[in-house]
Amino acid sequence: MKKAISVCITCVTALAMSGPPAMALDLEGLVDAGFGLFRAATVSDEEINALCAASIQKSDKENSVVEKNSAYTARLAKLTKDLKIDRGLRINIKTYHAPGVVNAFAFPDGSVRLYSGLFDVMNDSEVLYILGHEIGHVALGHTKSATRAIYTTSALRKAAAASGNNMAAAISRHNLTDIVEKLTHSQYSQANEFEADMYAVKVVRENNIDPRYCVTALRKLEALYGNQGSVFASHPTPGARAEALEKELGIKVGDAAQQGVISLR
Ligand SMILES: [Zn+2]
Repeated sequence: MKKAISVCITCVTALAMSGPPAMALDLEGLVDAGFGLFRAATVSDEEINALCAASIQKSDKENSVVEKNSAYTARLAKLTKDLKIDRGLRINIKTYHAPGVVNAFAFPDGSVRLYSGLFDVMNDSEVLYILGHEIGHVALGHTKSATRAIYTTSALRKAAAASGNNMAAAISRHNLTDIVEKLTHSQYSQANEFEADMYAVKVVRENNIDPRYCVTALRKLEALYGNQGSVFASHPTPGARAEALEKELGIKVGDAAQQGVISLR
């Protein structure tokens, strides 16, 4: 199932991708569409919000959201019952039924999606770390920046401009498949990943969970998928992130890749 891993947690899916990074600006295309560089940099919040709403709707429709009476829903409900998050942040969490897929992603509108394979591998404390990490990408504006970059280079942007910046009309005519794929596999820099990890540590601590579970979650990913280098040198591996967290927190949990699956409970 290696190909199913997404970058956000494991930072290795870049291996499965080809072509230029999603963040690269297609300047030629923008000029073709009649945009100046200034216009390219100014994507409105309304455009981002409309794109997010349409994309998450498409993603939820195309994936199988777990049943309300499933064990996954029960675990998620227990985890989030007293979840403390930043004031003003709106988060909407769902789990997709996807055995073997150890993955999660977030959109700037606060939609966080977990894959059920994650729950099969991680204990509740580790799932909370991953949830905190994804919420961190939202709270710190990483998802918004990534979405803006993806939208700026998309054909949808041209379509919206052609219809007088009417996003609703453009979206209704546009096939969002490519955009949803890029949004759910957003690439984040090493700095962004570390910031999201530290945000997750804060969330975990505020919910009275031992922050060592943040490290064990990353070590499990390392044990599962290794630390293959990304085609983007700036992209951190799970092992590198675990080490950075251990250093920052002044703890040492051990190398799960060599010792086998870690369990603190
Ligand atoms: Zn991430």
